[in-house]
Amino acid sequence: MQLHWHRRDLRAADNRGLATAAEAGPVLAVFVFDDDVLAHAAPPRVRFMLDALAELRAWYRDHGSDLVVAHGDPREVLPDLAEEYGVDRVVWNKDYTGLARERDAAVRQALDDAGVAREVVHDAIHHEPGSITTNAGDPYSVYTYFWKKWRTHEKADPYEPPTAEQLVDASDLDTRELPTIGELGFEEPEADVQAAGTEAARDLLAAFCEDGIYRYGEDRDYPTKDATSRLSPHMKFGTIGVREVYEATEQAKRALDVDAGTEDDGEKESEGEGDDEKPDELESIEEFQSQLAWREFYTHVLFFNPEVVSQNYKEYEHDIEWHNDPEELQAWKEGETGYPIVDAGMRQLKQEAFMHNRVRMIVASFLTKDLLIDWREGYAHFCEYLADHDTANDNGGWQWAASTGTDAQPYFRIFNPMTQGERYDAEAEYIKEYVPELRDVTANTIHEWHEITDLERERVAPDYPHPIVDHSERREEALSMYKQARGDD
Ligand code: FAD
Repeated sequence: MQLHWHRRDLRAADNRGLATAAEAGPVLAVFVFDDDVLAHAAPPRVRFMLDALAELRAWYRDHGSDLVVAHGDPREVLPDLAEEYGVDRVVWNKDYTGLARERDAAVRQALDDAGVAREVVHDAIHHEPGSITTNAGDPYSVYTYFWKKWRTHEKADPYEPPTAEQLVDASDLDTRELPTIGELGFEEPEADVQAAGTEAARDLLAAFCEDGIYRYGEDRDYPTKDATSRLSPHMKFGTIGVREVYEATEQAKRALDVDAGTEDDGEKESEGEGDDEKPDELESIEEFQSQLAWREFYTHVLFFNPEVVSQNYKEYEHDIEWHNDPEELQAWKEGETGYPIVDAGMRQLKQEAFMHNRVRMIVASFLTKDLLIDWREGYAHFCEYLADHDTANDNGGWQWAASTGTDAQPYFRIFNPMTQGERYDAEAEYIKEYVPELRDVTANTIHEWHEITDLERERVAPDYPHPIVDHSERREEALSMYKQARGDD
C-alpha cells in the first residue's frame, strides 16, 4: 500500500504526488493537522482549507476510499500510520518555504528510521528551483530574464486523478472526523471568504478563460473590471494544479486560432477587421501566463534566500530608519487614513480576505513610503487577513513595494495614492463599494480629498477621516529616509 500525504495539494486531479503513488499500487490519502503549521495560519485560510478538505474527502468517498485525518507531529504520525496500515511507501509533493523544508527533512529522517520508503516529488510549480538559472547557473534576481526562459521551457501535461481501482478500499478503516474550525483553535473568519475546493477553482478558471483572459492585459489593473482570475487561494492550497491552469490558458490561445480561422473565411477579413484583435488577445493571455511565472519566480527567490521572510532581499548601506508610528499603522489597518483608495483596499481585505493586485501595490506603497512604516508590519497584517497569503508571493510583493526586493522598483518611485485612485478607479466605484461614508460624494471630490478644505470635507462626508498625512511632505521624508539608508547624505 502507498500513502499519499496531502499538504498544499488539496485535490485529486493533476496531482503529481498522488499520481506517482497510484501508479505503484493502491493508495490511501492522509492529511495531518500539524500544530506547528497551524501556528502560522489565520481564520480565512483555515476556513478555506477545511472546506477544501471536506470536498476532497467527499471525492475519495465517491471513489470507494477515504481521506484519513490525523492530528499531531507528522514525524510521529506518518511512521505510526505506516505501521498501522502496512504502508510500503509514503509519497508527497515538495513545499519550498524554509520552514516546510526543515519539517520535511525531519519527516524524511523519521521515515528512514522507521524503515519506511518515501518519495518526494516536484508539483506545485512548473519548473523546480534550480531549473531556470542564468547562463552562469545562478538563480535570477530580475524577473524579466526569468520570464524569458520560463515561457520557453516545456510544461508537463496535467496528471490524471487515480481511478477507484487505484485507491484503498477504506470501508473498514477508522479515518476520523474532520475537526471544526473551533476545535483547531480558530474563530470563524469575519470575512466572506471565497468558495474553496476544486470545483470552485475549475468554475473560476473556466469563466476566466471564456472572457477575462482576453482582456486581462488591458483591464487587470482596474479593480472594478473583474478581469483577474481570483485563483490565488486555490493556487496557494493547491485545489487546482498548475498544469491544469496552464493547459486552460493554452486552450484559450487555441480558441483564438479557431476564431481567427473562421474570420479568415468571412467578411471581416476582407474588411480588415479582426487582424488587430488577435495579437492583443494573445498578448493578454501571455500577460496572464507571466503572472503565473511571477509566482514561480518568487518561489525560487524564497527557496534560494529563505531569510527574506524577515530580512530585506536588497541590503542598503545602513538600516532603513522606519518611523513606525503605531497610530498611523492602526489607521492604515482599519482603512481610516483619509486616502480613499487606500482605505477601500484595506476594508476589502477585511471584508473578503482578498484585495485586488493594483490596490495591494497602492496600500503597500502607502504604508512604506507615505507612513514610513516597515514592510514587515504590512506583511504581518496581510498574513493575518489574506485567504491567499503565500509566503513567497506576499514577501515578494511587500519587498517590491518597499524597494528592498528583487526587481528594480527604485526607492524614489513613490505612488501618489490620489492619482492612482483617479487613474484606476475614475468613477470611484471601487471606493464607494468599500467606503460607504463616501457613497454620496462625487468622484471628483473623492479624488481631490487631500486638496479640499476641512470644512468642505465635513460638509460632504462628515464621518470619513481627513487625510492623516500630507502626501507631498511624506514623499520628501521618504526620499531622505532612503537616501540616508543608501549613505547618500
Ligand atoms: P490573477 O491576476 O488572476 O493572477 C493569477 C495568479 O498568478 C494569481 O492567483 C497568483 O497565483 C499569481 N500572481 C498574480 N500576480 C502575482 C504577483 N504579483 N506575484 C506573484 N504571483 C502572482 N499573491 C498571492 O498569491 N499571495 C499573497 O500573499 C500575495 N501578497 C501580495 C502582497 C503585495 C504587497 C502585493 C503587491 C502582491 C501580492 N500578491 C500575492 C500578488 C497578487 O496581488 C495576487 O496574486 C493577486 O492579486 C491574486 O488575484 P488573482 O488570483 O485574481 O490574480
